[in-house]
Amino acid sequence: MKVLSVASEVYPLIKTGGLADVAGALPSALAAHAVEMQVLLPGYKQVMAKLPNPVRLLEFDDLLGAQAAVLACRMDGVQYLVLDAPSLFDRDGGPYTDAAGADHPDNWKRFAALSRAAATIAEDGIDGWIPDIVHAHDWQAGLTPAYMKHGKAVATPTVMTVHNLAFQGQFGPDIFPDLGLPQSDFAMTGLEYYGDVSFLKGGLQMASAITTVSPTYAQEIRTPDFGMGLDGLINARADALHGIVNGIDTKVWDPGTDTMIAANYTHSKLKKRQPNREALAERFGFADTDGPVFTVVSRLTWQKGIDVLAEIVDDIVAMGGKLAVLGSGDQALESALQAAADRQHGHVGLVIGYDEALSHLMQAGGDVILVPSRFEPCGLTQLYGLRYGNVPVVARTGGLADTIIDANEAAIAARVATGFQFGPVTPDALREALRRAIRSFADPKVWARLQNQGMNADVSWDRSALRYASLYAELLASKSENP
Ligand code: ADP
Repeated sequence: MKVLSVASEVYPLIKTGGLADVAGALPSALAAHAVEMQVLLPGYKQVMAKLPNPVRLLEFDDLLGAQAAVLACRMDGVQYLVLDAPSLFDRDGGPYTDAAGADHPDNWKRFAALSRAAATIAEDGIDGWIPDIVHAHDWQAGLTPAYMKHGKAVATPTVMTVHNLAFQGQFGPDIFPDLGLPQSDFAMTGLEYYGDVSFLKGGLQMASAITTVSPTYAQEIRTPDFGMGLDGLINARADALHGIVNGIDTKVWDPGTDTMIAANYTHSKLKKRQPNREALAERFGFADTDGPVFTVVSRLTWQKGIDVLAEIVDDIVAMGGKLAVLGSGDQALESALQAAADRQHGHVGLVIGYDEALSHLMQAGGDVILVPSRFEPCGLTQLYGLRYGNVPVVARTGGLADTIIDANEAAIAARVATGFQFGPVTPDALREALRRAIRSFADPKVWARLQNQGMNADVSWDRSALRYASLYAELLASKSENP
């Protein structure tokens, strides 16, 4: 099966969050299931700088007004298709924002162009390669199924994966005429969303199948509390909805071989984690290496429950713990954490920014990875925590609920516990969960067992890659039944 995957970020070329990890890991994970996946992504400045010997395959004179080309490049066994459109992507800043952190005003055009290019590849192929299936990720690729509906790839099945329903790509109605879609698509049954244009809604309406990144989140988004205004549509398409939990790239995230950490170790050699704990303590300015080290690697936002964390920082220290936070996000939350780090010097450390290597060291040197999200489609940091013996304490929601087995008495007795769950996301419930973790940490045998059970949990892509491959096969089979 030939599958074109379309995403706005793909690790290791460009990453701001979990989407990049998933889009980056899928091609190799699916290769084991006879799926040949090529990945289309935008040629941001950072991406163009990383491409060895790109080959120019497709030219556009007018891709939503832009001069563009698709360049092919093979790296580590993955075939990347890079949309080189300098007027859209060759600029400073991140994939979505300028250097000052403001959204690029033409994001609608940048990502409509990505989707339009994907549809063109679906229609005409690229270098003789015509995809059997097109798999679009998040709102940035959301118009792909819409464009495909109106061309000769109308019968090619499409999959729309939602990595976070909170981001919908909503723009004013004035952009609609420039998208190059028929006026009839600006309707309730198309892209129209309360008078605006929603890229994600377009994808959800028109894709052959919808997936999201955990079974629990797939159910949650059918309710008003989690549906972000799209629960009605998602319920109407419930038959096409699938929850497939993310795996992780176990080669990139392997404490036995990781070159970004201070010392390698395995589940049977947990004492060898110690140099990582020491390196972490030094990096975050801890006074000593006593007590459990709680780690957070996260966007610092309301979704991630960082405001709740900020409220109990002093309690963590009072209970004998340390806290190391890496992330960036809302200014007010960054300031609240900075104030806590200043107040609790030697016990609380904060690094504001994005640092891939430090995120690895934190998983290797921390005792607990804390994920207090109010909602979490899947979450990856708790999976990295499992793999690295950094025991997860997570809110009971979405993919966090699906991937962590709470250390209640039954689970401890059955030797299956891998972490701690709590809810609701309040200071009291979080404090209580940390207390439970600290009690377990005080008993080295109990703690080592928790670490071991986590490290032996299957967090690979094996099972989920098979589910994607089966879904693709089903879509192709129903296409040939109803041509
Ligand atoms: P989301 O995609 O909602 O931000 P996920 O848990 O799915 O959350 O994925 C986050 C990914 O980004 C993980 O790979 C995590 O390690 C990484 N990450 C988040 N913040 C940082 C940071 N400040 N520095 C390095 N890596 C980070």
